[in-house]
Amino acid sequence: MNAELAADAGAILGEGPWWDASASLLYWVDIRGLRLHIFDPSLGEDRAVALAMRPGAVVGRARGGLLMAMEDGLAFVDPSSGSRKTIVDPEADLPGNRFNDGKCDPLGRFWAGTMDDAEQAFSGSLYRLDLDLSWKRMIEGVGISNGLAWSPDGRTMYYIDTRARRVDAFDFDLAEGSISGRRIAFEVPASMGFPDGMTIDEEGMLWVALWEGWGLGRWDPRTGCLLERVRVPVARTTSCCFGGERLDRLYVTTASVGLDSEGLASQPQAGGLFTLECGVRGLPSTPFAG
Ligand code: CA
Repeated sequence: MNAELAADAGAILGEGPWWDASASLLYWVDIRGLRLHIFDPSLGEDRAVALAMRPGAVVGRARGGLLMAMEDGLAFVDPSSGSRKTIVDPEADLPGNRFNDGKCDPLGRFWAGTMDDAEQAFSGSLYRLDLDLSWKRMIEGVGISNGLAWSPDGRTMYYIDTRARRVDAFDFDLAEGSISGRRIAFEVPASMGFPDGMTIDEEGMLWVALWEGWGLGRWDPRTGCLLERVRVPVARTTSCCFGGERLDRLYVTTASVGLDSEGLASQPQAGGLFTLECGVRGLPSTPFAG
């Protein structure tokens, strides 16, 4: 399967796509370009909103507006102006860390993780923001906190620490929002690059974006079998999510960061937003319910 360009957005580090089903819009971020992007598939138009800080992830909020993981903490953001109201910065004491990927669980709690921006220390954590805006550190000792997904029955959480080069599974207690029983779901072979962001389809299979892997892989997390590959004409594929009216369209973000002029010439669409119909439907994106 091959993905095609949806928007030649020229992002530096495109990331974190999130489908807003109520407005039929795709939100995504450019972490190093300090931008919130809003893609309207009906018009084929991508619009960028400047932010004062580096964003890590974006989700909608059920009562309106957006919730974002920003460099300096979690914040409610107005998508028209980019203005923000910080909720909490759980790592005010770790200036070398920044927030990275984040997503809501099926009950609408927001999970987001951090990383050492220099990619040296394993000083990252994964946090859970509850509906009353209280928060809790759920995992410590993380290298690069990245993709998150919940199984269709809500009983398993999947998680990527990119530097571990694998996808882990946890037993997930939906009512409590607690995780236990961490184990390896599958490892990503070195020849496929590093696992970055991910999403899950209605069959419970994981679609994992492969940094330095020129695309995505679709894995069965219960057997560890690689089922399919999607080719993207950019080496640094960063994340993916399902969108469209029937949730049968995959959107894929990419990065141009680190490419010299020769690299950019060979990957002219780096930093673009890609899409493909992949023959299976995703699960609806959950907005923050608090
Ligand atoms: Ca990422």
